[in-house]
Amino acid sequence: MAKTTKKESAPAAKKPAAKKVAAKKPVAKKAPVEKKAAVIKPKPAIKKEVAEEKVEQKVERTLMALYSLQQFDSQIDKIRIIRGELPLEVQDLEDEIVGLETRVNNHGQDIESVEKNIKEKQENIKRSLELIKKYEDQQMNVRNNREYDSLSKEIEFQTLEIQLAEKKINENKLSLENKKQEIEVSETMLEERKKDLEVKNSELTDIVTETEKEEDGLITMSKKQHSDIEDRLLTAYQRIRKNARNGLAVVKIERDACGGCFNKIPPQHQLDIMMHKKIIVCEYCGRILVDNEIANAVDVH
Ligand SMILES: [Zn+2]
Repeated sequence: MAKTTKKESAPAAKKPAAKKVAAKKPVAKKAPVEKKAAVIKPKPAIKKEVAEEKVEQKVERTLMALYSLQQFDSQIDKIRIIRGELPLEVQDLEDEIVGLETRVNNHGQDIESVEKNIKEKQENIKRSLELIKKYEDQQMNVRNNREYDSLSKEIEFQTLEIQLAEKKINENKLSLENKKQEIEVSETMLEERKKDLEVKNSELTDIVTETEKEEDGLITMSKKQHSDIEDRLLTAYQRIRKNARNGLAVVKIERDACGGCFNKIPPQHQLDIMMHKKIIVCEYCGRILVDNEIANAVDVH
């Protein structure tokens, strides 16, 4: 029992002496002892264990570098996404402004044509009134009833024409009023959008300057990790990242599942990952998997 306690406190010590290695060996903290025993080869010679420890340390360093690399690259991705979305917002505003300007312009043209229409109807009324006057004068000089009645019919017709024109004028005046109101609304909106655009544009400039500085720092940090990763692995990392929708090539085990594709990782596979003896990828999505120990060690720094 005392031996077990010693084992559990061991992972805190970073560089165990060679003799302690045997005791520290099962690094996986939470895995049950019997299962770990199944993974470890039966009673290896001390010499071999030391060699294995070196492999383990190397793999651990690589895993930590890979996980760090992923964290920096993900932050760079995030910055680029934010910066990429702002120009889209500006574009949306510019499009909206063009739309509003077109609307104001169209309403202006409509108003012109409605006003023209009103003027025409007013002209018609004037002409009808003149005709009525003319017919009434003619009625004074008719020779018979037939002529008189015929003129009366003409007068009646022109009176109806006047009524119709007046009705149209009223309708047009109403639509004129509406169009003027719509223009007012559109113009107010236009003013607001133009102000928004101004704000967005200056925001964009600020964010670009600000994030470029941050991004440069992250790129430097990202590149620093490369020295601890073999070229072959680095190429693989970049390939997986390019193909992954979320840009994740290195993921944690989360709730017994791959943090990238969320497929369950079999317990044996999880144990292999915890052993840090080699780089292990998700059998479903191909992403490089790390356990919490590696992830926590990186997150702390
Ligand atoms: Zn996966």
